[in-house]
Amino acid sequence: MRNEYLLLTPGPLSTTETVRSAMLKDWCTWDDDYNKEVVEVIRRKLTALATQQPGYTSVLMQGSGTASVEATIGSAMKTGDKLLVVDNGAYGARIAQIAEYLNIDCHVVSPGETAQPDLKEMEQVLTKDSAITHVAIVHCETTTGMLNPIQSIASIAKQHDKVVILDAMSSFGGIPMDIGEMGVDFMISSANKCIQGVPGFGFVIAKQSELEQCKGRARSLSLDLYEQWHCMEVNHGKWRFTSPTHTVRAFYQALEELEQEGGIAARHDRYATNQTALVAGMKKLGFTPLLDESLHSPIITSFYSPTHSDYQFKTFYMRLKEQGFVIYPGKVSNADCFRIGNIGDVHPDDIERLINAIEKSMYWELSA
Ligand SMILES: *Cc1c(COP(=O)(O)O)cnc(C)c1O
Repeated sequence: MRNEYLLLTPGPLSTTETVRSAMLKDWCTWDDDYNKEVVEVIRRKLTALATQQPGYTSVLMQGSGTASVEATIGSAMKTGDKLLVVDNGAYGARIAQIAEYLNIDCHVVSPGETAQPDLKEMEQVLTKDSAITHVAIVHCETTTGMLNPIQSIASIAKQHDKVVILDAMSSFGGIPMDIGEMGVDFMISSANKCIQGVPGFGFVIAKQSELEQCKGRARSLSLDLYEQWHCMEVNHGKWRFTSPTHTVRAFYQALEELEQEGGIAARHDRYATNQTALVAGMKKLGFTPLLDESLHSPIITSFYSPTHSDYQFKTFYMRLKEQGFVIYPGKVSNADCFRIGNIGDVHPDDIERLINAIEKSMYWELSA
């Protein structure tokens, strides 16, 4: 049952054996054992993890994380609404792309992939363009590992009375935050990121008064966030269409393990320890992180690829895989990078072993 290698790829990631074992049972999708005992408990726990403030609710949605982002954009925004989105990576760009597919007017702020958005620019855009109704921002841009200043952006958006949509896909569960305090109206994440479940569904934690206004707005039947939520509310956890039962049960186990670890604060500490050790170890080996340290998240780190002419990502990747580690190719468009994630069932001793494995895999140095 043990994995051959550790996934240092933030989603899907390495899960515990106990999370994987939780999938070894079949469930009936309309039975109380599944709905009341599993789905409803998950929904309550997710809301409590996201905020201490009243008035929030949660809804689970089949598909990968993007399906939940698309469901949110397509259900929260009505005809004539306009979106302001920050694009400093692939996931911000994806939100803009979703708006385009759905024929939703969109203003994109593009600070580039290695910079945070200029808050003054955001403020100016909101002041000038009164057609904007919603502001969307990615918390941790998994493209680079950049952490965006969501608190400041949500605060500016709220001063202008806008609805705030947060893609916290790769950070929720791994970085403490209170979405109610920040004024976030819709927060999106998925099963296979920091909660450390397996892929198959995403979830949205929403201000209930905002979600209730989404009735009849969706541009897609299966991605109708309001109807999905309404069905779960009225039928005590029932999904509208076939739910990913095994994934959901594994997620339930993952949430218990998050509690056992000491909650989000403790998990954040572990990830941060992993990330600090990773950067220190990599620097010793001569690697340079793409981002300034002040912009790093504890989730994933991008490193510049070696410039040696013998270096090839594929060879480096295979050598590491043979030693039990799977890393991520780069996703930045204007720099040659690779990425190493440190979320999932990954611990400081794994990072230590990884650094040793990387040292042994630097074949371009050996041949030099
Ligand atoms: C993983 C991720 C998503 C969703 O990606 P899927 O491949 O659809 O699961 C969205 N936004 C961010 C920031 C992510 O890290």
